[in-house]
Amino acid sequence: MKFTIYGNPIQHSKSPQMHNAGFKHINFDAIYDKTLLEDGNTLKEHFISNHIQGANITVPFKEYAYNQADEIIGLANKIGAVNTFIKSDDKVKAYNTDAPGFLKAIEEFRDIKNVLLLGAGGTAKAIAVALKDKNIDITILNRSKNNQEFFTNLKCKFYDWDDMRLLYSAGGIVLKYDLIINSTSAGLKDDNYPAPLEFLKPLIENTTYAFDCIYGKKTPFGQLANSYNIKYKDGEDMLLYQGVLAFELFTGIKADDGLVEAMRSGLKES
Ligand code: NDP
Repeated sequence: MKFTIYGNPIQHSKSPQMHNAGFKHINFDAIYDKTLLEDGNTLKEHFISNHIQGANITVPFKEYAYNQADEIIGLANKIGAVNTFIKSDDKVKAYNTDAPGFLKAIEEFRDIKNVLLLGAGGTAKAIAVALKDKNIDITILNRSKNNQEFFTNLKCKFYDWDDMRLLYSAGGIVLKYDLIINSTSAGLKDDNYPAPLEFLKPLIENTTYAFDCIYGKKTPFGQLANSYNIKYKDGEDMLLYQGVLAFELFTGIKADDGLVEAMRSGLKES
């Protein structure tokens, strides 16, 4: 059986190593490779004509995938983006495993009732839908008003940096969040903080947990959380669990601890 991940760029993707390690662990006769796609409109056509059984879809094609699927399953309907295609009776079923993968990654964080989500991009949408599904209050803080309507429709509070600056100087800011999440790309290829330090510092100082979607490096956000001794996780488990959930859909096999660890090793070795 053939599986692949679509994206552009795709060279950096660690998904093949993670999934192939999983296939090897359970002796599943399959191969997972990567496909560089130039035009998102050709996604489904490529998937069908190359007889691919299942695929992951990454930046910038998750919304194309959503629009081309024959059937959208679960929370993906609210997110408007999918990262997993499954061929089923010549139809393409589509799922979003980023959202439940994120929830699995923060399982060890207990009693989360309110969350400050930094960023308002595609990942923030999946995280916000997943958290709202668990009745958790969400405040978005983004540098611009991009995607504001999506989040206000989801009943999240939404502030850009100017709004927050005004609130902060007027003393009207809520400082106590159970969890602060960095879902921006600040810190990925630079040393930027995901929000101005004047209010990021007091917010981090008062939170119980911090989570960074970025993995493989300690970002300025992560360093700040560490400097206040906040319980902090990076995005490795989020990447792992979206993969594990996709793997279960690909194979129909429920992942046990051994399989999860085999996939984690594949990820780390890559
Ligand atoms: P998007 O491009 O959709 O969104 C990027 C977000 O980051 C926007 O809100 C943008 O603000 C904000 N942003 C970008 N640069 C800065 C900056 N210098 N300062 C403050 N805010 C900034 O990206 P994604 O949502 O797809 O990905 C976001 C991050 O999540 C990436 O770092 C990615 O690596 C990581 N990720 C991790 C995954 C995992 O499994 N661990 C899975 C998917 C993503 P604006 O709207 O104003 O442009």
